[in-house]
Amino acid sequence: SIVHSFSNYVAYYDVAMYEKDAYEERLISELDRALEEKQFVLYYQPKYAIQGDKAYPVSAEALVRWNHPELGMISPGIFIPLFENNGLIKRVDMYIWKEAAEQIKRWKDKYGIVFPLSVNVSRVDLLEKDFVETICEIVRGAGIRSTDFMLEVTESAYTQDSKGIIEIVNQLRSMGFHISMDDFGSGYSSLNMVSSLPIDELKLDMGFVRHIHEDVKSYKLVEIVMEIAKLLDVKVVAEGVEIREQYDLLKKLGVHIIQGYYYSKPLPEAEFTKFVEERLNYE
Ligand code: C2E
Ligand code: MG
Ligand code: MG
Ligand code: MG
Repeated sequence: SIVHSFSNYVAYYDVAMYEKDAYEERLISELDRALEEKQFVLYYQPKYAIQGDKAYPVSAEALVRWNHPELGMISPGIFIPLFENNGLIKRVDMYIWKEAAEQIKRWKDKYGIVFPLSVNVSRVDLLEKDFVETICEIVRGAGIRSTDFMLEVTESAYTQDSKGIIEIVNQLRSMGFHISMDDFGSGYSSLNMVSSLPIDELKLDMGFVRHIHEDVKSYKLVEIVMEIAKLLDVKVVAEGVEIREQYDLLKKLGVHIIQGYYYSKPLPEAEFTKFVEERLNYE
């Protein structure tokens, strides 16, 4: 019976592995069609600046989902790492940046204001030879300015071969793009490296935020990050803020910008546009 269940386990394991491979192969083989049919959709999650007792949405992050006709809504956590490993990420991300840039333009034409967007950029994207040209062309083609765009690059993107990455990020920043360090505190970058980086904001890793109201160590770590940010003269964003207790503590610590379910989940375009409109009506 032990042998039996063992062999069952092996069989189950093989099937699971086979299915995962088959699923991934399917995603890879269907990428072209998905791009053609616009199956990749952007969701927008607002970022709120804390000002006194209030907070105001000042920008939003564009987050991709794959709305697959048969497999349903696929999370970026599944296909982004897959495409990063297959050299295909550039094709998805170029599409996303273009959509985001065109969205900024549509809002600008409709409301006469620029609502800036953050987009996520993979390390693999940054290492493409023509990355800087590509993103500049996208911005120019959409009729917006580089200053309307913020590029979120994860801390871990800098950990290997950081010189090359820093050089590219420097170039982007000197062209006007705002740069955010995403998932800050989850990687292993040295303070020395961080202090020489051309960035505009540190985005605290969700791990700190999650336990801040129940774990004094998380709280103290955020306190230290605030000191570092002051020294570097960069803003701090807390993402993954879900509840009031977290919000209150982050505010007390002087965090500048809040993002998370506490205010809003990532919203599809129509809903987010309604949200922008409601905001405008207040003013
Ligand atoms: P990220 O950039 O760090 O984005 C934060 C993730 O946390 C998002 O997951 C967001 O939906 C989720 N989130 C936001 N607020 C909360 C909250 O209050 N609680 C919890 N538990 N989660 C929250 P999502 O959309 O699944 O994206 C996952 C990751 O995929 C992103 O992490 C980003 O690294 C990557 N990604 C998303 N879109 C793109 C893209 O267009 N290009 C690239 N290269 N990567 C992308
Ligand atoms: Mg991000
Ligand atoms: Mg993050
Ligand atoms: Mg992340």
